[in-house]
Amino acid sequence: MFSLTNLAVSRLICQNSMAKEYSSSFSTHLQKHMPTPTFAVHSALALKRPIFWSNPIHNGIAPAHYEPLVAAAIERLHRFAPLLAASFDTLKPHGGHICSQLLPVLQPEQLISSSDLLEHKAILIKADHMLAGSGSIKARGAANAVLEIMEQIALAKGISDVTRDANSHLRSILAEHEISVGSTGNLGLAIGAFAKALGFKAVVHMSAEAKAWKKEMLRQLGAHVVEHTGDYTQALAAARNNTRSQNQHFIDDEDSESLLLGYATAATELAKQLDFAGIEVSERSPLFVYLPCGVGGAPTGIALGLALLFESNVHCFYAEPIEAPCMILEMTRRGTSADSVHEIGLSGKTIADGLAVAKASLLAAQLSRTIMAGGYTVSDETMLNDLRKAHQTQNLQLEPSAAAGIDGVRQLAGRLGKIYLEERGLQVEMAHITHVVWTTGGSMMPKHEFQNYLGPT
Ligand SMILES: *Cc1c(COP(=O)(O)O)cnc(C)c1O
Repeated sequence: MFSLTNLAVSRLICQNSMAKEYSSSFSTHLQKHMPTPTFAVHSALALKRPIFWSNPIHNGIAPAHYEPLVAAAIERLHRFAPLLAASFDTLKPHGGHICSQLLPVLQPEQLISSSDLLEHKAILIKADHMLAGSGSIKARGAANAVLEIMEQIALAKGISDVTRDANSHLRSILAEHEISVGSTGNLGLAIGAFAKALGFKAVVHMSAEAKAWKKEMLRQLGAHVVEHTGDYTQALAAARNNTRSQNQHFIDDEDSESLLLGYATAATELAKQLDFAGIEVSERSPLFVYLPCGVGGAPTGIALGLALLFESNVHCFYAEPIEAPCMILEMTRRGTSADSVHEIGLSGKTIADGLAVAKASLLAAQLSRTIMAGGYTVSDETMLNDLRKAHQTQNLQLEPSAAAGIDGVRQLAGRLGKIYLEERGLQVEMAHITHVVWTTGGSMMPKHEFQNYLGPT
């Protein structure tokens, strides 16, 4: 039976142990309706009003070859948990497991406050904003990517038992290697933190959006921070071009399968927590998930993991700022890929620094084709309001990006959800849907920064 008290103790199953089974029988699922004409979506985006886009080719089928790759990432994070616990202060209390709580929203009307809200089964928060290691959704991706590089170096040096060796001999080898990354803030923070903890040199190229406190925190950790005046795409290009020698390892946020697979491990974690809480995911009780989207890696990775487990019974919606809807733009392009959101007259600038990305990752966009149920855009004002409501009603400390998922419930647990189900010919009662809002970052924000978002009280 579904019980909210079970959820309260769901932290107890914050264990990243091996996924027992990944369902591998993928059913084909025919879509009934015609695609929305591309120009209609683009002109709606250009008008800078909140939009909702339903992906006509979504069927919940992920490429099967990803299944063993996700399983390998889960296994890697599990195997190195003791090492992470030993080298990372904030992960020690968690035994080196990177896992976030699943929190129930007990009085959803207070958080969502919409007259449109229909009956619902449960509204839950996947609290990645409190993720140990980096305080954001980036932790699992970053850990997987950095550990994979470490493993490769060890292998090349003939060190077989990395878990035992890492503190001594291997550490001195890793000190000769540099890991670099381009970031709007949180990815840099996560990669920098994991790289430094394991003994690497770390270079983080930050775009103009990156908050001063994130740069400062990285410098404290001993990472080298390069500040760029341009946007995220430019910071990324600079980082890419600076990678020349064999001892330099660039983690490309626009094109890293390793990051994506790290993010995908969160799906098994969520599945276990839902199971523990007695929440079924099935054809008559589907799961709706709301994921803030920047370059697209994190939402795509999680959608991938969830699709491998729940196929067409999970519906992942990506949330993007009105001024930076790079993923919806890319997904609705036919033929050539989009240059950037600038081509439809948008600035790419938003208060949601983690989502301030003008061009989507093509790897993420390609993979999202069949596993992204849809996307919607949110104004800065809505994100700020939801940040405040999440604080007042749930006592959460979110950054603006992390609040973008909340508006999805407002939309899909209301009239829009009904239309969405009808459009797809799904015979589901609104009251049988479980909604999961993924809160993606914010707990490491200094108090005064957060106070600025809350405004005068
Ligand atoms: C990075 C980030 C996202 C989105 O991840 P992408 O891989 O860039 O799509 C969402 N929320 C926060 C807080 C982030 O830092």
